[in-house]
Amino acid sequence: MPSFTILGCGVSGLTTGICLLEAGYTDVQIIAAQLPPHTTSNKAAAIWFPYKVNPQDLVLKWSMESYAIYQELAKDTATGVHFVDWFVLEQSLTDEAPWWAAELPPNAYRKAEQSELPKGYAQAHIANVPMIETPIYMQYLLQRFKEKGGLIEIRRINSFEEVLQENAESVLINCTGLGAKNLCEDIGVYPIQGHIVQLEAATNEEIRYLADEAGQNALAYMMPRKDCIVLGGTAEAHQYDLEVNEQVVADILERCERLQPKLKGRKVLGSYVGLRPYRSEIRLERELHRPIVHNYGHGGSGFTVAWGCAKEVLELVR
Ligand SMILES: Cc1cc2nc3c(=O)[nH]c(=O)nc-3n(C[C@H](O)[C@H](O)[C@H](O)COP(=O)(O)OP(=O)(O)OC[C@H]3O[C@@H](n4cnc5c(N)ncnc54)[C@H](O)[C@@H]3O)c2cc1C
Repeated sequence: MPSFTILGCGVSGLTTGICLLEAGYTDVQIIAAQLPPHTTSNKAAAIWFPYKVNPQDLVLKWSMESYAIYQELAKDTATGVHFVDWFVLEQSLTDEAPWWAAELPPNAYRKAEQSELPKGYAQAHIANVPMIETPIYMQYLLQRFKEKGGLIEIRRINSFEEVLQENAESVLINCTGLGAKNLCEDIGVYPIQGHIVQLEAATNEEIRYLADEAGQNALAYMMPRKDCIVLGGTAEAHQYDLEVNEQVVADILERCERLQPKLKGRKVLGSYVGLRPYRSEIRLERELHRPIVHNYGHGGSGFTVAWGCAKEVLELVR
């Protein structure tokens, strides 16, 4: 029976680890420089929504596989997963459903009625999708991985050889997100920086889950969670800075309040910056000459595709 060393303890590494353990492999360890709650994954909002991620056909497949698993997870409130109506606003009318909605269950997608639209928008796609409360869900994944027998070591590695030399029998699974840029010398990997603002919590009857990706208030999105309302956002390619820019925070607040005036006057709990680990295409493949499987480059959609990607890793190692 092979042993596995997963590099990375974000949503990709943990989900892959759980899939391997639950498929019957017993010797699975994670090595990671940072664990939850200090990973990029913990900074995500996070909603099921393919955003800044490629290639479309595989993303759709992996997203739908993940959607099915989130349907199961949502039955247990302890996971932090629940389903919400997600409004994607548009400035002009189109006939078709967007590509990412193509395979949603028939009752999980519709176009908004005129009366449901915020002022100035021509249409909205409403999809019933998983909302993944990252502070709860990342802890849930960590615990599930450990309970199944997974081991964790906190360490930054400088090369794959370093780990392969320590355990020549082990198969490495590379889930290092942005860290893969250096480890793989992959110039195709770069950050898409995102600012997040957290407002005091509200019920989702009060505040709807809205996004304007390309219209008059873009980029703006809002997602009520148990701990806060997550507001976004920005998407700055090649920007590595993790410092919060207060002007950007003020602009996000202004755009979101224009979209949803009920946000006005709510207390700001905090703000932070996260780096989406983007690549022109997710890299999910086995190397020919070294026992390494890569699973990185999930951009703005690591949660959206996590279970589908982990399943694919399992197929590759089998
Ligand atoms: C502002 C923002 C909002 C987002 N919203 C959403 C959303 O709504 N829905 C969604 O699906 N996605 C969203 N995302 C994207 C999502 O967060 C990422 O795609 C996902 O977190 C990537 O997970 P990962 O496990 O691949 O990487 P990470 O979470 O970055 O984990 C990488 C792991 O690798 C480790 N590592 C890296 N290099 C090394 C090294 N050399 N040695 C040892 N360990 C190493 C790190 O310590 C860490 O443990 C958002 C991202 C941001 C920034």
